[in-house]
Amino acid sequence: MKRAKDGDGVGSITSVTSSSKILMRTRYSAWNLLADARGGHADWAPAWRDAEPRPRYDAVIVGGGGHGLATAYYLAKNHGLRNIAVIEAGWIGGGNTGRNTTIVRSNYLFPESARLYEFALKQYEGLSRELNFNIMFSQRGIVTLAHSRHDLNAQARWVNAMLFNGIDAELVDAAQVRQMEPRLNVGPGARHPILGGFVQRRAGSARHDAVAWGYARGASALGVDIVQNCEVVDFKTANGRVAGVKVRWQGREMDIACDKVGVAVAGHSSLLARKAGFDLPVTSYALQAMVTEPVKPVLNTVTLSPALGAYWSQSDKGEVVMGGALDHFPSYAQRGSLATMQQVVSATAEMFPSLGRLRLLRQWAGIVDIVKDSSPILGESPLPGLYLNCGWGTGGFKAIPAGGWTLAHAMATGRDHELAAPFRLERFHTGRLIDEAAAAGIAH
Ligand SMILES: Cc1cc2nc3c(=O)[nH]c(=O)nc-3n(C[C@H](O)[C@H](O)[C@H](O)COP(=O)(O)OP(=O)(O)OC[C@H]3O[C@@H](n4cnc5c(N)ncnc54)[C@H](O)[C@@H]3O)c2cc1C
Repeated sequence: MKRAKDGDGVGSITSVTSSSKILMRTRYSAWNLLADARGGHADWAPAWRDAEPRPRYDAVIVGGGGHGLATAYYLAKNHGLRNIAVIEAGWIGGGNTGRNTTIVRSNYLFPESARLYEFALKQYEGLSRELNFNIMFSQRGIVTLAHSRHDLNAQARWVNAMLFNGIDAELVDAAQVRQMEPRLNVGPGARHPILGGFVQRRAGSARHDAVAWGYARGASALGVDIVQNCEVVDFKTANGRVAGVKVRWQGREMDIACDKVGVAVAGHSSLLARKAGFDLPVTSYALQAMVTEPVKPVLNTVTLSPALGAYWSQSDKGEVVMGGALDHFPSYAQRGSLATMQQVVSATAEMFPSLGRLRLLRQWAGIVDIVKDSSPILGESPLPGLYLNCGWGTGGFKAIPAGGWTLAHAMATGRDHELAAPFRLERFHTGRLIDEAAAAGIAH
């Protein structure tokens, strides 16, 4: 085991050995970087412990994406639970969390959504420090383009709603857009002239893998078991409640007993719900993204054109990151169709002619969980003891801290967190939908 060093909480570098588990903690700091240089940096503890499943936990979280890992972290950190497992069918962050275009914003329309996403954005602002892990959060601003009078009117309403909700938003004219993003084809003479737009300056992007890894590291340091390559294939019930999960691990099936299960599996939510005996109003689609070869810094902001169905930013590596709308048909195939890709590429050539000759380096897709009102489903499911975190659709990366925080609260206390209460599944019975289609649209 590694030598012990100073620090506390997530960051402390003590190795705690008990009969059943070893907790490895490494505080990342300039001092420890220097100290470890003496040993040629051969002495760092792994960021998290890859665990084997045990037969019983107090709580099991299905899905090792950002939401599942954040839930485990907050269950341990905020509620003191330690006997927790995250069960991940593949590798952590290998689902949508590691496939998204990393946009973080809180520019939603309705107060319920504004509160939820703003809470998440505020958490993001302090997350690198909280997790002692650099999530490369960059508040470079998001610019939503207006190409018509209708867009301008809709955006004026949108900005007013945001300001009413206490969230920063600014209407800008074409000249201001050009100043922020000089390579945009603003017109005149452009096929889709830009009349203006609106900006949320505190929005931006964060490194997606780092968010998953940071939460995994934090959770693991607090004693959470992270079990990879382990698929939940069924649920166990007793006395009308969930009593555990059946998993497939290393080619064999085994039962894990627990009192509470949190399910955060994005596009696979309806499949697992069916195994638990209920249906979800979720349809799964492929959502794709792509990047060009890396170039020197050419884009300053995240820019989005709802009318053209595409959005752009530049990664720290220099790749131009491009995304668009959902594929047109439901699917579990993690690829993405040529038609959507073509739309994104042609919109890019139209809006940024100077990027037209860049080569596409990679294209990929994730399976997202689309709900009719484009809002998440949070809270206890029809099977008591089983809690849901799904329906984030095209935009759940930005919500990871809030999704984890509120699911942990529900699992630990048995009550909805006030931020999550409006998003219960029951809204599809009561009709109190929170229709964020306009703000979710293609705006991830
Ligand atoms: C191309 C693309 C671009 C996007 N862009 C953005 C963006 O810019 N901003 C934004 O906010 N959001 C964006 N999103 C959406 C965002 O990525 C997701 O909403 C978010 O990552 C969901 O996180 P999650 O933890 O719920 O799911 P995931 O990260 O998908 O994790 C779910 C995990 O559950 C596991 N799993 C599934 N079934 C089982 C099982 N039976 N047993 C065990 N494990 C299981 C999967 O392997 C997976 O790792 C984008 C998505 C895609 C695909």
